[in-house]
Amino acid sequence: MSRYKKVFLKPGKEESLKRFHPWIFSGAIASIQGEPEEGEVVEVYTSADYFIALGHFQIGSIAIRVLSFSREEINRDFWKERLQAAYQVRLGVGLAGRPDNNTYRLVHGEGDNLPGLVIDIYSRTAVMQAHSAGMHLYRMEIAEALAEVMEGVIENIYYKSETTLPFKADLFPENGFLKGGSSENVAMENGLLFQVDWLKGQKTGFFVDQCENRALLERYSKGRSVLNMFCYTGGFSFYAMRGGAEVVHSVDSSAKAVDLTNKNIELNFPGDPRHTAYAEDAFKFLDRMGHQYDLIVLDPPAFAKHKDAVRNALQGYRKLNAKAFEKIRPGGILFTFSCSQVITKDHFRTAVFTAAALSGRRVRILHQLTQPADHPVNIYHPEGEYLKGLVLYVE
Ligand code: SAH
Repeated sequence: MSRYKKVFLKPGKEESLKRFHPWIFSGAIASIQGEPEEGEVVEVYTSADYFIALGHFQIGSIAIRVLSFSREEINRDFWKERLQAAYQVRLGVGLAGRPDNNTYRLVHGEGDNLPGLVIDIYSRTAVMQAHSAGMHLYRMEIAEALAEVMEGVIENIYYKSETTLPFKADLFPENGFLKGGSSENVAMENGLLFQVDWLKGQKTGFFVDQCENRALLERYSKGRSVLNMFCYTGGFSFYAMRGGAEVVHSVDSSAKAVDLTNKNIELNFPGDPRHTAYAEDAFKFLDRMGHQYDLIVLDPPAFAKHKDAVRNALQGYRKLNAKAFEKIRPGGILFTFSCSQVITKDHFRTAVFTAAALSGRRVRILHQLTQPADHPVNIYHPEGEYLKGLVLYVE
């Protein structure tokens, strides 16, 4: 007898599970045995009473996040096996186990068959984030498994889920160390240093997902005048400086972000006069600036977090990119991104296309960018694809 409570689906609602999609929506459920707690593991049965999946239960539109399509115990060995598999992928693609790079995403939710869990590695510290009640409930067991799998690699595990868990679930997560407690917060990405503010910073403290796109920008920076708009911790800026940019201007509306950017530039290029950071609104800056930049990065926050916000978001991307097309120097290169999951690649490309047409400039697409290999997309869960970027040559 299994110790897990059972959930029965309505007839036909098992179809997406047969194709390994990891979510079960509340509307697909016919009945629930007992009253599972928020985050409890439940077994899922079809209307014909055969077992089909095992997952974390949660009250909300996504009612179950699937952990496994076979019967098994969800225990420390289970977490160990999944974490080990995730670590193997990072080693295999050359992001982990390198002397010049100790920053990578170890677990990317559904992409690593661990829906609701994100773990980023910054040198000797893992920052762990739960996006589901289930991962929150199991956090200690996961942390123990993580410490075992990453023994000798990490010493600290910081849990940061105060802003990522559903408010209504009454989970009252507290941010803090589950293991270790070092305040050493300098990490390295492709040989460049940066400070991670896992205590107060956005996401887990750094935007790990732009790592390869930053490296590409470095290649295009030589002799250019660079504007890094929405700089946050200045990632694109310090790559541009290493690439030989003539000047680099970083802009973010948050004074704290500008402060972090300055610190990170100082860490890598102490006293280098090529860099200046401005705490200013993007649109205001773009309006008042001249035509001096020939490499512009636009990496704004997600303009749309829900499907109903798509129209407005597209207008936002159009306006923002139109400003860049209007001002960029002839022969300039524009790196433009959208990290909204609900904005598709086609949506985004159409918005940028419209902005280009409005400016009347000739524009070529040089690269179409996405998230790196440590943010893998589970082929059965296309929703996991979120980062889109275009690198454009503007005549
Ligand atoms: N490019 C960054 C990540 C950008 S995150 C990196 O590689 O790490 C988005 C940033 O946009 C945040 O730091 C936020 O403070 C900033 N931001 C949000 N609204 C803004 C606005 N209207 N003008 C300027 N910056 C803004």
